[in-house]
Amino acid sequence: MIRLYRIAPEGLYAATDPATDEVHVLYSDPFETLPGGWEYGRRIDLHSASFLAPVAPSKIVGIGRNYVEHAKELGNPMPTEPLFFLKAPSSLSGPRAPIVLPPESEQVEFEGEIALVLRRRLRRATPEEARSAILGVMPACDVTARDLQKKDGRFARAKGFDTFCPMGPAIGVDPDLDDLSVVTRVNGVERQRGHCREMAFGFVDILVYLSRMMTLEAGDVVLTGTPAGVGPLADGDVVEVEIPGLGVLVNPVEAWRAVGEATSDHP
Ligand code: MG
Repeated sequence: MIRLYRIAPEGLYAATDPATDEVHVLYSDPFETLPGGWEYGRRIDLHSASFLAPVAPSKIVGIGRNYVEHAKELGNPMPTEPLFFLKAPSSLSGPRAPIVLPPESEQVEFEGEIALVLRRRLRRATPEEARSAILGVMPACDVTARDLQKKDGRFARAKGFDTFCPMGPAIGVDPDLDDLSVVTRVNGVERQRGHCREMAFGFVDILVYLSRMMTLEAGDVVLTGTPAGVGPLADGDVVEVEIPGLGVLVNPVEAWRAVGEATSDHP
């Protein structure tokens, strides 16, 4: 599977060259040219490079209760149609960046998910159009202030804080959409494991429904729901969301600190 990165600080795209499996700067625009036509530049050293979120989406759409066992654990019925919500684009974060626990919440939880990335615009798409518009998938964490979600009865605040949507480090381009898993670990301990065949609404169904409501743009991201096992995060935790065969998103968790309160551990 080709992996598509965006490298810091310039935000250049980089991708694995299928001929060598090494990462090279990508000269081609991955939203304009299909992977078979990509042109590669200089090699990137994966160990010294740092990566940004692989895309800068115009919107981040989430889907709630797409795994039966997760709906049950929160005491919710399964929806009969996909239940959509929006995460603020400003909640976007990248690999290795801290998830900051805001002082307004006492219960911030992880939700490991498979995120879809679109390669082209979709509007009232057929299933065929939706399938071919998927550039790829990546691990993402739909960080949620569970107490505020219950208190507000809506998702804008609970899922919208800065740093609440880390994703990456790479998009797996043109994966087998029928065989994808997601695994979440906190401090090395497995907490969630799901497979896309357990989803109530599959990747293509989600895009067909969603594109009836809003025009989806190239680079937009759709979080496809979290399996059972969600739980709270604390200062100092490390969250990993893995799509086996693609990669692992790693993010440390930090309590919010006002300017002047920084400790030596958190300069
Ligand atoms: Mg979620």
